[in-house]
Amino acid sequence: MVKVMRTHEAGALHSDGYGGAPQWLPYPPDVNALLPILWPAGVAKGDDGVLTVRGLPVTDIAKEFGTPAYVLDEDDFRARARAFRVDFGAPFADLGGLSVYYAGKAFLCAQVARWVLEEGLNLDVCSGGELAVAERVGFPGERIELHGNNKSAAEIEAAVTYRGTGVGRIVLDSFDEIERVAQAAGRLGIVVPVMIRVTVGVEAHTHEFIATAHEDQKFGFSLAGRHAAKAVAQILACAELDLRGLHSHIGSQIFDTAAFEVAARRVLGLHSEVAAEHGRALPELCLGGGFGIAYTSENTPLGPRELGDGLASILRRECAAEGIDVPAVSIEPGRAIAGPSTFTIYEVGTVKDVELDGGGRRAYVSVDGGMSDNVRTALYGADYSVTMANRAGAGTPMLSRVVGKHCESGDVVVMDEYLPSDVRPGDLIAVPGTGAYCRALSSQYNHVPRPPVVAVRPGPDGRGQARLIVRRESIEDILGLDLDD
Ligand SMILES: *Cc1c(COP(=O)(O)O)cnc(C)c1O
Repeated sequence: MVKVMRTHEAGALHSDGYGGAPQWLPYPPDVNALLPILWPAGVAKGDDGVLTVRGLPVTDIAKEFGTPAYVLDEDDFRARARAFRVDFGAPFADLGGLSVYYAGKAFLCAQVARWVLEEGLNLDVCSGGELAVAERVGFPGERIELHGNNKSAAEIEAAVTYRGTGVGRIVLDSFDEIERVAQAAGRLGIVVPVMIRVTVGVEAHTHEFIATAHEDQKFGFSLAGRHAAKAVAQILACAELDLRGLHSHIGSQIFDTAAFEVAARRVLGLHSEVAAEHGRALPELCLGGGFGIAYTSENTPLGPRELGDGLASILRRECAAEGIDVPAVSIEPGRAIAGPSTFTIYEVGTVKDVELDGGGRRAYVSVDGGMSDNVRTALYGADYSVTMANRAGAGTPMLSRVVGKHCESGDVVVMDEYLPSDVRPGDLIAVPGTGAYCRALSSQYNHVPRPPVVAVRPGPDGRGQARLIVRRESIEDILGLDLDD
């Protein structure tokens, strides 16, 4: 099955519609209204147009913590984490069970690691730094897995000795690494539980995916090239490694289960081949993460329950076809838990009215952050939405582009959205869906200190209370790295 994939998440949809707006972007009947699917559950707007989180006005948050700031609805994050464990997991109860690993690379800090722990999820880390965050909060080793296509000797050592017992599993990505982990295990006299990352020839982005026989990318062992089968044989022959199962991750921002179906069929093919050839049913199977979220009105993600039902029935069917039991399944959602829990507030600095070549106008709204706090737009043409956050706009909907303060013309936060035409310097605007891969991918470009993460949860009186879970970087933090002596 071959389908066409777009090179960018948003690329092909950026053909111009009326007056310079892309075709997918509807002209809003009410430019101040929120589209609920884009926002954390605790966010609302009152008649005054002020955005609130659990009843706490973002104007108060801006006053206390400054702008820009990432604002995270803690209960929303926890509810999404729980929904993957409970709702996604439900249809797996009478199969081999389901384990959920939160993909820490989407956004990780000590508080988030604690929430993940408290909500009963496991943790997926892909560097020594992420593992150090887990250690800081005492995350149990058996509930951690380590990923990465080039884990250093130090990272492998840190993982296998983590809190005395080591991590629950290391996902092996190359023949060099099999040797490296086996050597570390031998030296320490331990047996290390491992998975094999299999490249199944399915690459999925948004609503489309491409399924090929071969894979031209850096991750995993090729299925078609028989490297994965060779890795299985090598690991099974190695006394220091305990092969728990096969792992497949096919991409990110995926909206339906069709791509998972192709991937599951392929990886289960190898799984049952291992059972036949080595007389060994591997106990586990990981299908990775990549579940999509809504960044704009054009995205229609499935909920955890629908995804779980879809994946469970695929596994039941494919395992029946192979004549094998359904193994214990795991998944690794990152974006779908962290992404929608958070929005970014910015203060507007300048507004420019620009005439477009094909007719029409666009407002360039400059904010006090930009590609340093959200690089996804510049990096892969991601689309975002934005709303006025400190008052109800009185003007008509004006096609707008939210741009940052950095010295790059590609420094765009929101490519296309309507804002009220009276948006002006000093206004607060809020961009939803910035919980995943924004703070995590942030930089200090132009020596702009990185924004804080402000978490809001209901206080004793039920009203939202804000606290810092990652503080704002200071100029001293940045200058402190710069040695001039
Ligand atoms: C990035 C990644 C994930 C998480 O992807 P999301 O799109 O954030 O759900 C899960 N597993 C692996 C191996 C990854 O590389």
